[in-house]
Amino acid sequence: MLAAPVQLHRAAILNPLDPSSWNYREDGVCAVQKGSVLASGSVASMLAEFPKSELVEHDGVLLPGFTDLHCHWVQHAVRGAYSGELLQWLQEYIWPEEGRFVDEALARKQVKTFYSDMLRAGTVMGLSFSSVHRAATEVALAEMRGDWVVGNALMAINAPAYLTRYSQHEAEELNTFVENVSKEHYAITPRFAPNMRAQDLRVAGQIADAQNLLVQTHLAESRAELCWVKELFPEAESYTDVYDRAGLLGPRTVLAHCIEMSDAEWACLADRGSWVAHCPSSNEALGNSRMPLEKLREYGIPWALASDIGAGPSHSMLHVLQRFFAVHESAGLEVSATEGLYRATLAGAAAMGRAAVAGNLMPGKRADFIVMPGKPKAEDLTGWFRDLCEGKTEELERRPLETWLSGKRIEPQGVS
Ligand SMILES: [Zn+2]
Repeated sequence: MLAAPVQLHRAAILNPLDPSSWNYREDGVCAVQKGSVLASGSVASMLAEFPKSELVEHDGVLLPGFTDLHCHWVQHAVRGAYSGELLQWLQEYIWPEEGRFVDEALARKQVKTFYSDMLRAGTVMGLSFSSVHRAATEVALAEMRGDWVVGNALMAINAPAYLTRYSQHEAEELNTFVENVSKEHYAITPRFAPNMRAQDLRVAGQIADAQNLLVQTHLAESRAELCWVKELFPEAESYTDVYDRAGLLGPRTVLAHCIEMSDAEWACLADRGSWVAHCPSSNEALGNSRMPLEKLREYGIPWALASDIGAGPSHSMLHVLQRFFAVHESAGLEVSATEGLYRATLAGAAAMGRAAVAGNLMPGKRADFIVMPGKPKAEDLTGWFRDLCEGKTEELERRPLETWLSGKRIEPQGVS
C-alpha cells in the first residue's frame, strides 16, 4: 500500500513550547501528512528524509494558529461598538443584541462571518459563548470552522424575559440539550452568577461532572458585579465560593476575568486546578481593573489569553497580545514575548483539553498553522514578535498572510 503523501512546508518556523521558551529555525521545514505534523527540521534533513514530497515555500514565519479561550460569537458584529460599566453595558446593549439571535437565519449568517473572520485573523480554535438560544448554538456547532467549544448561555433570572424564556437551565432540558450535541465541542455555560439561582448552578455543575464537560463562565470582572453577587448569595463566602458550592470548579473549568479576587479565592482556584481566561483588551475597554497577573503567578494558576469579543474591541489575538504587554508592563511587571505566544496558543489548547493534539507544531499534532510577515534572524525574534503585535485593530485582524487547518489552506485569505 502506498503511504499517504507528505507535504513539506518551508519557512522560518517558530514553535512555542512553554511560558519561557520557544523553538526557532530561520529556514526550516515542517512535514505534514494526513493533516498532521509528521516531523520538522532543517531543509537538508527533511528533503533527504522525504525526497519525493511536494514542497510548499512560504515567505514568512510559520507558527501555530491562535487559540482564543473566551469570546462571545454572538457579539462579534458589535465588538468594540459599546462600552461602559459592565452591568449597564450588558443591559443596555449586549442583551438586546443577543436577543436578536432568536432568528436562526440571522444566527447562520453571523456565525459564518465569525468563523471566517477568526481564521482570517489566525485564530484556529477556542471557547465561545453562544446566546441562550438552542438553534443559534446548534448553528454555531454545525457551521464550525476550526476547533471550537461552544455553549448556550444559561440565564435563569435577573435578565429580560426575551432571554430567560429560552434558557435551557432546568435539569431535564439541559440534559436533553447535552444528549444531542457533540460533547467534544460543547461546554456548560452559566453566563455568570447573577443570572442563576444556587439550585440552577448546582444542576449545571452536576451535568458537567456527570458528562465530563468543559465549563465556562465569568468570575469577578467588576466591583459592581461583586457587590451584586454578595447581595444575591449572602450564604456564600465569596464570588468564587458561589461556583465552588455548585461543584462548578475543576480542571475542566475556564473562568473569564478573575480581577476582583481575595487570596482565599485564588487559593481555591489553585486547589481546584481551574483555568483563568485573561482578557486584557476587554478589561481595558470596559474600564475594569488590571487582572493581577502576579497573583496567577504566585498561586501557580493555569491561564491563557482571550479576546472576550464583543467587550474586547477586536478578535485579533495580536491585538490581545498588544494590550497584554501594555497593561502589565505599565504596572511594572515583566511579560515576555515567549510567554505571550504560549498563552495565545498552547496554553489555550491545554485548557480545552487539546494539548496532545493542537496548540503547537510538535509531531502528531494537527497541522493548524499561520504564516506571519517577516523573516527575522534568531537574535531579532523578540523584537519581531513585539512589532507583529503593534498597529490598529483593522490591520492586526488581517496581518496573517496565510491560515492552514489540518494541512489545508483556507481560501480565500481575503474574506472579511
Ligand atoms: Zn465574556
